[in-house]
Amino acid sequence: MIGLVLVSHSATLARGVLELAQQMSQGRVPLAAAGGIDDPSDPIGTDPMRVVTALESIADEADDIIVMMDLGSALMSAEMALEFTPPELSSRVHLCSAPLVEGSLAIVASAAAGASVDVVLNEAKQALVSKAEQLGDKQQPDTTSEPSPAEDEPDARPVTTWQFTVPNALGLHARPIARLMQTLGGFQAEVRLSKDGLAALATSMSQLARLNAKQGDELTVEIRGDDTDHALAALHAFVDDNLGDPVRSSIQADATSSSEDVSLQASPQNGTSSQAEGFLSGLAASPGIAIAPAFWLDVVMPDPAELALAQTDPAERDRLRLAMNQAARDLGSLALSVGGDEAGIFEAQALMLTDPELLQMLDSNLAQGKGTLFAWVLTINELAAGYDGLENDYLRARASDVYDIGIRVLRLMDASVLRPPLPTQPVIVLARELTPSQTVQLDTSLVRGIVTEAGSTTSHSAILARSLGIPAVVGVGDGLQAAVNKADVALDGDRGQVWLSLTETVRDGLEQAASTWQASKDAELAASLAPAVTTDDTEIAIHANIASSYEATKSAQQGAHGVGLFRSEFLFMDRTKAPSEAEQYDAYAAAIHAFDANFEDAPITIRTLDVGGDKPLDYLKIPTEDNPFLGWRGLRYCLETPDLFKTQLRALCRASALGNVQVMFPMVSTPSEVRKAMSMVREVQTDLARENIPFNPNMPLGVMIEVPAAVWHMTEIAELVDFVSIGTNDLCQYIMAADRGNTRVASLADPFDPAVLRAIAHTADAAHAAGIKISMCGEMAGDPDATALLIGLGIDTLSMSTPRIAKVKAVIRELEMAQVKQLATEVLELPSAAEVREHIQQAAVTTS
Ligand code: PEP
Ligand code: MG
Repeated sequence: MIGLVLVSHSATLARGVLELAQQMSQGRVPLAAAGGIDDPSDPIGTDPMRVVTALESIADEADDIIVMMDLGSALMSAEMALEFTPPELSSRVHLCSAPLVEGSLAIVASAAAGASVDVVLNEAKQALVSKAEQLGDKQQPDTTSEPSPAEDEPDARPVTTWQFTVPNALGLHARPIARLMQTLGGFQAEVRLSKDGLAALATSMSQLARLNAKQGDELTVEIRGDDTDHALAALHAFVDDNLGDPVRSSIQADATSSSEDVSLQASPQNGTSSQAEGFLSGLAASPGIAIAPAFWLDVVMPDPAELALAQTDPAERDRLRLAMNQAARDLGSLALSVGGDEAGIFEAQALMLTDPELLQMLDSNLAQGKGTLFAWVLTINELAAGYDGLENDYLRARASDVYDIGIRVLRLMDASVLRPPLPTQPVIVLARELTPSQTVQLDTSLVRGIVTEAGSTTSHSAILARSLGIPAVVGVGDGLQAAVNKADVALDGDRGQVWLSLTETVRDGLEQAASTWQASKDAELAASLAPAVTTDDTEIAIHANIASSYEATKSAQQGAHGVGLFRSEFLFMDRTKAPSEAEQYDAYAAAIHAFDANFEDAPITIRTLDVGGDKPLDYLKIPTEDNPFLGWRGLRYCLETPDLFKTQLRALCRASALGNVQVMFPMVSTPSEVRKAMSMVREVQTDLARENIPFNPNMPLGVMIEVPAAVWHMTEIAELVDFVSIGTNDLCQYIMAADRGNTRVASLADPFDPAVLRAIAHTADAAHAAGIKISMCGEMAGDPDATALLIGLGIDTLSMSTPRIAKVKAVIRELEMAQVKQLATEVLELPSAAEVREHIQQAAVTTS
């Protein structure tokens, strides 16, 4: 039997062609679609892993599989997918150049009739003939008029050129490169960028990185192909957007490339020893002072010569491809759990694993026949050497990203070739250089500081050290390992200084500086950890909105007294099937444990899966809808997919035995939906009781109020649940009938509009009348300008993204309940959002 896989930039298009093919083949041709990419904000693109999944899904049924593609990167993804497919399968796959729709229908028609694969392929290639004849088009499609250029032949296609100046402070570094590749990935046109005679294809991360394009450099762009104009327009927009980097006032500020702004003070004597003063000078990478025994962390790649075998076993090649595949997935999950700006580090690393240049180098190293480990290590060394030789500090630091993916894949292939012992007591970690994965895996309770011989303040490990709050000095030069013994070493992460041996005077001075630093850090932390209490002693609970357990840890360290919204759908993204009960349980357990140290019994409010609307998930097969925001989303979807829902409810109920888990249902419109959801929880709890699995039978259940109907059903809903939380992001869009993602109507979707405020007031009053607490977890909850008003309206708990916590707490500490209640009463009478804002501002002036 012949099967068909459809690869398109658009998931909708791939599914549409699949639907036509299904109708024509009547089940006689195995079919699978691989359209779009896993990026809800920009789902157009192609993903080799989706193609692999599609191939695997019909591999058992089909003897031969034909892959049809739309254009541009779809071809590349299909070819790359074969790299990741075992030879047993890839040898049965045929990539077909025929047009997607006509070719696919020709294929299913002839395959369903039992034709051989050669005949079917030929039919596909002739597929346009009948259309051309019917339209009286005498000429056959001329496939030679725009040949694809061979590497060494001159390209005859018309070329459009454009020049631009690199606008962003860090230049064309890893993340802008990844974004550039994504920007151009949807076009058929071939794009080359060049600088000083060195050219790079816009599909190759390594080639682009080696242009070493810095801020102010002139780049020439050459574009060839059908959709040149559109590709050029996209490129213009990308450059106008500062290559997607934030616009900051100076390179110094930008060099942190982190959400955490710290002042980086480069030492004038980077990498040199100032023996006179008794310290080594490096680069101040992360502030703070630390004194502790040194711990040498060995991070070197093994020597390829030690791994060389007499020959390469073909089965080992498959293992290597699978390991690369797995590493890319792991990096995707890591990006998800790290979240924020730091996620881009791991996303860029995942992209490196599919870089055509890496794959080409790997192929030629495999051809040496000395084993896959040898070929892999050699490839990584060669690729890293390409970065090592660059002038730009930021790009040179990418060599450690290359080593990181190298080590990641090696660990999956054969961890015994790596020797990474980890500290078991408080230490200062010394290393040649730390990879990003090693940095995030360090136990922050044991690692007091980091010192590296190599690296720069923009190396990803430095960025991560700052985000983890670990003092660090990098780039101190060679010789650290020799200095490691049992004695204490010290570092000053503000000055970039490192002491490998401590005289009594130096130790005294440093200890004093360390305790001053620690005291100011403690004071800062204490203010953010202390409760938010108004001047007249009313405590407002401050919780965090999170999407991963990593964020839970960060929020607990930065003053959240619980989680008001765990967006569980993030656990379901970037994967090809839903997470299992065990995977979900682990993620919820990790979030609970993140709070254990700081806040006993902290409420962890986990929202059940909220997909649909602006958060589609391919594998959940939610059909495309005309009005997804008004469609099958949130609780509506879960109630009708009980298997999926009950798996999540089981994981949540089991996690409730570990801590104060609260379950919250999203996108509720009616009390009857709430009753159904609650009865499913009871069914799950009955099953668990029967299986003797522990859970909390009194686990609080609540709902999000984000649909106007739910506001006006509040009296009844409040009688059913233990708490409610207002989601202003959706509530506002539904009340104002203004799509939350549409910038044209953004000014209309203003939560300060009295229509929204009156809905909030009604919800709060109805909750209190029923004796339950009311939270808010939409963006408005973290807006310091709204804090006084929201408390005046009666909100008991504000849940927000972690960086907002300190500021909102500080505002609350200045408020007095009588005044904010008065403010709320006055504001509810006003006619417009503008007047509400003005009134709040004036009130703030008079109260201060
Ligand atoms: C909301 O709608 O306000 C909300 C918090 O949910 P989300 O933004 O995830 O839709
Ligand atoms: Mg919502």
